[in-house]
Amino acid sequence: MSLQAEVELHRRGLLFILSSPSGAGKTTLSRRLLEQYKNAAQHETIVMSVSVTTRAMRNGEIHGKDYFFVDDAAYKQMVEHGELLEHAQVFDYNYGTPEKFVREHIEKGIDVLFDIDWQGTKQLTSKLPDDLVSIFILPPSMEELERRLRARAQDTEEVVQKRMGKARAEISHWQEYDYVLINQDLDQTHEKINVILKAERLKRVRQEGLADFVERL
Ligand code: 5GP
Repeated sequence: MSLQAEVELHRRGLLFILSSPSGAGKTTLSRRLLEQYKNAAQHETIVMSVSVTTRAMRNGEIHGKDYFFVDDAAYKQMVEHGELLEHAQVFDYNYGTPEKFVREHIEKGIDVLFDIDWQGTKQLTSKLPDDLVSIFILPPSMEELERRLRARAQDTEEVVQKRMGKARAEISHWQEYDYVLINQDLDQTHEKINVILKAERLKRVRQEGLADFVERL
């Protein structure tokens, strides 16, 4: 095994957060990133953190893939047992990140991708500041955001209006993120996210094997 490979194997995984108002394209972008690294070597793999939520399942969603759909009692129990790395109320429902999955993967040097809101990002940033990279995705305009929400045709008019109202509040937190991208073109935004991921993987703090490597030089 070459020294280079040895150093790479000692990389610590990172928490890679994508936040945006609903409809700005982050679900599609997350899927593309996961697909891109699907068959990569372990130290270049990125996996999705599957959240728990108390909201109802939408058409086409799969339990255990999109979310773990739980009732209020089960959610409450997870919070009380400290099983969630962060949790927040978004719209009228509760969402949270199971902690065990995240810790197991970053220790192994596998990156974990998150689709969580600004509240969750804030909690994770204070808990794991050295392991986290956050990106906020902006829509090109509020008109375009509304158009995308309607095109999705998953939500009722009332929900669309509510989400538009919340979008501005979500966007007001843009300065709390490491990177902010305007998603005008999916291919270009995907490429930018990939560039960020690749550079962040190379950061000194994540190369746990570097000290030994330098020692042996
Ligand atoms: P949706 O119900 O449309 O899937 O998600 C609504 C919002 O909840 C999105 O902004 C999404 O990023 C956020 N969200 C999903 N899972 C989590 C989570 O585990 N924690 C937090 N804080 N937000 C989440």
